[in-house]
Amino acid sequence: MQLSNQDLSQIDEDELLNLPEGELRHLSIKLLNDLKDARERLSQNSRNSSRPPSSEAPWDKAPLEPSNDQAEEETDNPTETEDSAKPRPPAKKDQQQSEGENEEARKPGKQPGAQGFGRTQKLAITDYQNHYPETCDCCHQTLESRHAIAYAAYETINVDWADVNHPGILVTNTKHTLYEIACTNGHITRKEVNRSSHAQLPDITRTEWRLVGPGLAAMIVCLAYRMRASREHIQEFLYDWLGIKLSVGTINNTLHESGAAAMPLEDEFIQEIINSELLHVDETSWMEHTTFLWLWVFSTDRVTAYWIATRVFAILISVIETYRKRNQSPWIYLAQVIASQRSGLPVPALPNVRVSE
Ligand SMILES: [Zn+2]
Repeated sequence: MQLSNQDLSQIDEDELLNLPEGELRHLSIKLLNDLKDARERLSQNSRNSSRPPSSEAPWDKAPLEPSNDQAEEETDNPTETEDSAKPRPPAKKDQQQSEGENEEARKPGKQPGAQGFGRTQKLAITDYQNHYPETCDCCHQTLESRHAIAYAAYETINVDWADVNHPGILVTNTKHTLYEIACTNGHITRKEVNRSSHAQLPDITRTEWRLVGPGLAAMIVCLAYRMRASREHIQEFLYDWLGIKLSVGTINNTLHESGAAAMPLEDEFIQEIINSELLHVDETSWMEHTTFLWLWVFSTDRVTAYWIATRVFAILISVIETYRKRNQSPWIYLAQVIASQRSGLPVPALPNVRVSE
């Protein structure tokens, strides 16, 4: 890298517009070299670098021929299952261990980092959607779709919701094809899928390239959090009732991505709670595996927000009691505490009175 982060932070559009031509050319060369370097790092994968296969995004795992109908997302982060989230036993240093010991240290099933397999289920395509780039990335020329060449494709399974006049659920399978087009100057521009992540969940990438469509994702979220079904039970339900085969890993990723997609709503909910004059709060015990937690519910006339907490319970009770003695409502302060914690800010001090045990 020729330019440091510090250098980059000092360069803006005004700076570039005011630079003399000679300096601008030199700077352009540095920027170009850095950009090529960064792109090269981005394109590294398990086959051309030391990166493990599990670190790859699904669209990087294998080039998809336009004629290939097989959706690849089933391989999406194959290691990101509940199992692999648990701490792994430390690797044994003793090279003399027997095979039996080896098997003992190895968990059954697919190993973290192992190569995933493409989907074996072939669903009939119910709809086709083509995605073309509109303008050249280099010279901004308008591109014509008749010159387009398909370079990748993926399928998205979705469910169309029923209404009282049309009961039942319809499963759809849309094939999305991505195209590249060359402009008259020879630049090739690809239509890329949108990808993004929330600042607080940087490891979870939301992307348009997905096997599970929004309606099916909503159903999986409902089964998991409204019906409290396990990933395995959701898998069983989807297969038995809808004829959809999904891996537990894909179901898990769908839940994580749906959570990331809903993150921006939290700020609105917290603000609503802070602004609300009529607020009800209650708590109940909440088990997660073997961990004993508390589930709090904050309910206004427009918003119901849940918060799962551990040791803070005792502190909360203390705060509530303090406010009760002061004949004031504690809920506005508690909502501010939650908002601060979620934004990574320090907890606001309790006004005037110390929190007593
Ligand atoms: Zn061009």
